[in-house]
Amino acid sequence: MCRHLAYLGPARALRSLLIDPPHGLYRQSWAPRRQRHGTVNADGFGFGWYADGDPVPARYRRGTPIWGDASLPGIARVTRSGAVLAAVRSATPGMALGEAAAAPFAADTWLFSHNGVLDGWPGSAALASAPAGVLASMEAMSDSALLWALALDRLRAGAAPSAALAATIAAIESAGGTGRFNFLLTDGVTIAATACGDTLWYRDRPAEALGGDMAVVVASEPSDDDPGWIEVPDRHVLSAVPGRVGVRPLTAPVSPLILPQTAPLPNAERTPTR
Ligand code: GLN
Repeated sequence: MCRHLAYLGPARALRSLLIDPPHGLYRQSWAPRRQRHGTVNADGFGFGWYADGDPVPARYRRGTPIWGDASLPGIARVTRSGAVLAAVRSATPGMALGEAAAAPFAADTWLFSHNGVLDGWPGSAALASAPAGVLASMEAMSDSALLWALALDRLRAGAAPSAALAATIAAIESAGGTGRFNFLLTDGVTIAATACGDTLWYRDRPAEALGGDMAVVVASEPSDDDPGWIEVPDRHVLSAVPGRVGVRPLTAPVSPLILPQTAPLPNAERTPTR
């Protein structure tokens, strides 16, 4: 399983968010403290960030371990942003490797990461059941890329971010699909995330060292031992802006706008193959 993190708040050096915290994403790549599946996250990493006044994020991704990128500490020291999404990857067996399969995935103004697995991938039946337009938008041959394409389909249809994530899980599961679906999504203004099979935490507090405005971090696990971290219960969906975090059960009623639009997975996909 991977580890991921999103931040919204006052602009800060990416280094202070990703590398410097004692148990931050950088360290989580070889020594995660709460990861439920897998041990190291050495199959790639990536981060996306938004510049002031530009709604479309930039990305930096590599298919190698984060600790092996000698250029990263310098880039992260001088790059500042108030909206970031980052991930370190432990590739599920059978998934594509390399930069294109490393989160964050991106489209329009969105950045997305998936921590987990869609059981049975890459069953051809699962692929065949997705609309052609969804398949064409996949950035890589991986379960995460397919799940992102399904969520993006809902976002582009007008679903709210947290509703789009919840509806994607509901569509997969109502068709008998199984797996672990911890999603993380931002458009640089709001964060949506699901806890569905692995850990998810958040911290929302004034950023004292950065002028005191509120800053929210949503992450697979706490990056330090601050008592302000709050765990999100399993099978819940979170939506957050700085100073306001909402958490509700995945099964809570959703608006008709986000009802599944995708063909269900066929019976062949109902039994996990591993
Ligand atoms: N299944 C996804 C991948 O292979 C995510 C893996 C994970 O969470 N470790 O990239």
